[in-house]
Amino acid sequence: MTPLRFIILAILIFLAYRLLVGSLKNGKNGEKQQKAVKNGGPVNDVLVEDPICHTLVPRQQAIHLQHKDSIVYFCSEACCNIFIKQGEGK
Ligand SMILES: [Zn+2]
Repeated sequence: MTPLRFIILAILIFLAYRLLVGSLKNGKNGEKQQKAVKNGGPVNDVLVEDPICHTLVPRQQAIHLQHKDSIVYFCSEACCNIFIKQGEGK
């Protein structure tokens, strides 16, 4: 192996190492962002589906209804009332 090839190889290993460390850092940042969403962090653009009219609504603007163990989201009180009436009918 000539000295020049050795230097090129060393540079390639160095670049590969930098790339690996960079991707690991990005992975950690991704984890932090996911945790923020789980804790109800400042993410306002999450879309939720209205089970009555199947409209996608931003969660902060949606009507919330505690239903059994989960929260159901509606685009309007009208849809929320329809859902409650359907539940009573069963
Ligand atoms: Zn609706």
